[in-house]
Amino acid sequence: MSSHDESRFTADVYGVRLERAAELTRAAHLDALLITPGPDLQYLIGSRAQSFERLTCLVVPASGETPSVVIPKMELAALAGSAAGELGLQVIDWVDGVDPYALVKSVLNAGARTAVDDAMPALHLLPIADRLGRLPVSATPVLRELRMLKDPSEIDALRRAGAAIDRVHARMGEFLRAGRTEAEVAADITAAIIEEGHTHAAFVIVGSGPHGADPHHEVSDRIIEDGDVVVIDIGGPVQPGYFSDSTRTYVLGEPSEEVAAQFAELERAQAAAVAAVRPGVTAQSIDAAARDVLTAAEVGEYFVHRTGHGIGLSVHEEPYIVAGNDLVLEAGMAFSIEPGIYFSGRWGARIEDIVVVTADGCESMNKRPHGLTRL
Ligand code: ZN
Ligand code: ZN
Ligand code: ZN
Repeated sequence: MSSHDESRFTADVYGVRLERAAELTRAAHLDALLITPGPDLQYLIGSRAQSFERLTCLVVPASGETPSVVIPKMELAALAGSAAGELGLQVIDWVDGVDPYALVKSVLNAGARTAVDDAMPALHLLPIADRLGRLPVSATPVLRELRMLKDPSEIDALRRAGAAIDRVHARMGEFLRAGRTEAEVAADITAAIIEEGHTHAAFVIVGSGPHGADPHHEVSDRIIEDGDVVVIDIGGPVQPGYFSDSTRTYVLGEPSEEVAAQFAELERAQAAAVAAVRPGVTAQSIDAAARDVLTAAEVGEYFVHRTGHGIGLSVHEEPYIVAGNDLVLEAGMAFSIEPGIYFSGRWGARIEDIVVVTADGCESMNKRPHGLTRL
């Protein structure tokens, strides 16, 4: 594999991750991790294999012995781009008619205590539990320790993702105009997300006018009108699979006094949360920093979701920036800060940046101005 290939990191990066995963598995008093295609498999061996009805499963023994990959013979090509070959993993391929779950069992000791990734379909989990005679537990508590702390190459990927989505927001005047439907605007944004360096658009939210008051509105055939406040929340992965996710709020023409005043409070809330980020504080204190500003401005009741979510190979992962999460932040953690205010049937607004915790604060991956942008 050439060093110019950006589809994954070099094999040594994955070698370190597999070793750490085995150590943490041991520390959790488990015997092995069982990982099917998804972000955990991508994290551990750089494989983009997809999940099908035929089982593909990485088995990482807690003992530190060589991991194995159980994989359908016809899917071997999907493994070729991963680090499995360079890492010397044991490949156990199988053809239709063979019981792949028995193959998983064959590399484990009797009565093995296993942990599985959250993305493992029940289709595979249930036969694995049956063959092992024991229900696996979730691997997330083991892997989140690893995946939450981004290394410099991952932070670099998040920086490239942030810059790419910033370039799309910078072009919003090309797409967002009165007289167009949300769906038309979204189609142009989707193309721009790819043009600016993402492998695809993972989500495009265009919430115009009253639709902006629904945080999970995607798009519709509503025609955007003069005076509309429009929430644009967009993102996708850049190589080797790290996500961007950024929201800006736009207004077509002049905002009303009410919109301008309440948006100014939202801007203060988002800035207060960003300013509160540093190692040693809790995740929930960041949520409180944003919420307190909005509560003081008497719009706290319109901020109806958590302040943020971790991001990396998944759009939503640990750590969650939410009341009740007393996780202590450490340098290298990456998450969104995205307070919003939603006035049902009228309008809504949200501001979202991805930040990475540094030694003494945080670095924002997104650099676009936060204010209500007039188009
Ligand atoms: Zn959401
Ligand atoms: Zn978002
Ligand atoms: Zn987000």
